Amino acid sequence: MTEQSTTVVVPELSDRNRHFWQGGEKGQLVFMRCQDCGYYLHPPIPICPRDQSKNLAPEAVSGRATLATYTVNHHGWLPGFELPYVVALVEIVEQPALRLTTNVINCPLEEVRIGMALQVVFRHIEDPHGDVWLPLFEPEGGQK
Ligand SMILES: [Zn+2]
Repeated sequence: MTEQSTTVVVPELSDRNRHFWQGGEKGQLVFMRCQDCGYYLHPPIPICPRDQSKNLAPEAVSGRATLATYTVNHHGWLPGFELPYVVALVEIVEQPALRLTTNVINCPLEEVRIGMALQVVFRHIEDPHGDVWLPLFEPEGGQK
């Protein structure tokens, strides 16, 4: 899924976040995970908040999530997104407190519901500093 878009804000890649922004190249949603207690860290920080372990490594999750809350944006802050669009806070199924601010796509506004099951889809954005794959979410089972 490659789209021509140079107008979306592209995150600055670093060794600490590259796994997250480029996991989509392989179709994977990837978070840093503590290898001692299994806790996922997002945004990525260098030390696990649960057991202070620095033994962290990127791991892919299933890509499934539920919609925790959302707002509908009618203003064109981000060219490249069709209006209106849904700004969402989603909860990754692997860990209740693992939340991501993202967009819900491929779903009519009137069918967007808190608690709905979602799955990740990636929007590939080409960038001279390093391509990124934005994790967006659509209804589980595909486009409505
Ligand atoms: Zn830990």
